[in-house]
Amino acid sequence: MNFFPAFLKIDGRRCLVVGGGEVAARKARLLHSAGADLTVVAPLLAPSLQELVGTAALRWLPREFNESDIADHWLVVSATGVPEVERRVAEAAAESQVFCNSVDNLPECSFITPAIVDRSPLVVAVSSGGAAPVLARQIRARIESLLPAGLGRIAQLAGEWRGRVRARITGLAGRRAFWERFFEVAGTGKVTNAAELIASMLESPRPVGGEAWLVGAGPGDPDLLTLAALQALQSADVIVHDRLVSAEILALARRDAEVIPVGKKPGCKANGQESINALLVELVSSGKRVCRLKGGDPFIFGRGGEETQALEDAGLPYRVVPGITAAAGCAAAAGIPLTHRDAAQSVVFVTAHGKNSIDTLDWPSLARDRQTLAVYMGVRRFPDLVEKLIGHGRPAGTPIAIVERGTTREQRIIRGTLGQLTLLAQAHRVEAPAMLFIGDVARLGLCTNHDQGTVNPVHSLPAYRRGVEPAKATVAE
Ligand code: SAH
Repeated sequence: MNFFPAFLKIDGRRCLVVGGGEVAARKARLLHSAGADLTVVAPLLAPSLQELVGTAALRWLPREFNESDIADHWLVVSATGVPEVERRVAEAAAESQVFCNSVDNLPECSFITPAIVDRSPLVVAVSSGGAAPVLARQIRARIESLLPAGLGRIAQLAGEWRGRVRARITGLAGRRAFWERFFEVAGTGKVTNAAELIASMLESPRPVGGEAWLVGAGPGDPDLLTLAALQALQSADVIVHDRLVSAEILALARRDAEVIPVGKKPGCKANGQESINALLVELVSSGKRVCRLKGGDPFIFGRGGEETQALEDAGLPYRVVPGITAAAGCAAAAGIPLTHRDAAQSVVFVTAHGKNSIDTLDWPSLARDRQTLAVYMGVRRFPDLVEKLIGHGRPAGTPIAIVERGTTREQRIIRGTLGQLTLLAQAHRVEAPAMLFIGDVARLGLCTNHDQGTVNPVHSLPAYRRGVEPAKATVAE
């Protein structure tokens, strides 16, 4: 370890900033936010520093740096960008045993500032010891995305309640268990009234009540999870997931979470919806925090409505975290705009699952022109779809695109016309899960059979993001 990590108490303590530019201003603001008694020495000040002077939060010495400026300061930050001045500041600071940070100038530094995630009073600091500041900033960004915005408020609240918790729970182990349980729940950022939670936990020795989160896991690519979904995954006691949820996404779950697959394979009745509802009710009733993870969005052909109803009927709390639905994810992956000023004024999400839905769909309306159809669960019904749509007036030459396993590494995109759909699907052995897009927009997009893999120059992306096509099957019109 090259540098000793520490948090300094500089509240009310004299600190010096040498330099008056924007970099100096950033450092001055940070020192000011920690309560430093601040002096800036610089012939000129950037506008934002002038503002700070205006609020009397700092003293300004309007001149060049002088070695005697260092005396009586706890630390100095030098941000002049002039090597000669930086060296003089560092030397004078070393002479007086004052810690010195010379911005972007590691050799002259006796202390460095980390990249920080500020959820005050909780602060996470990341440092690479000056070796790779960009890496430290990337790690900071990752941590930033993991810590809910309200975490500072939770930490503050915990500070305020510490005394009362100590008075009520006398043993150290008991207190630790109490706080662990509190932060597990409140640290997710999903608790609306943390003070009420802490009070009720102190009142009753029982575990905090269970809750269900109905979470959309998106179409497959873990990068398409929302931050809220990730937080739910990382805090739930139990994950109840569908078959469509990928292993990569499940790998993001809390390590000690119980994982229960309840997938329904198309055509076979692995787990009836009733028993899934009952399982959710049972888990939440027993005090568990349950992440019910569904492919895409829970409320789009996801039967989320039945699960929330079951929880509601049982008087149990739940929240819904939306996800990127397969239509949006697959269209984006194929570069197909679902609406387009010239080609489609509306988009219809429709399922062609089972004979019953084929018979009950409003075909005259679905066959309308200037409309995109995004068909879910349709693979087995392609012949019926083609017959009905063409029968109701949609031209056989209408462009179509099939996106199989969209946004995953196995993604395939197959394009053609409505008249060719059945043969194309057979020729390519298309299997679920696949989205079918019908309408003029299906002709658009980055990935056509004609410009294989040449469109997106970012070759470091996985194949599906580059738009690489499967081998082309030739089908007669
Ligand atoms: N709630 C989900 C849909 C569940 S129905 C959502 O909002 O996306 C299951 C159907 O979704 C599949 O039959 C398929 O049509 C579609 N689907 C889901 N994930 C998909 C994927 N990665 N690629 C293509 N289609 C997908």
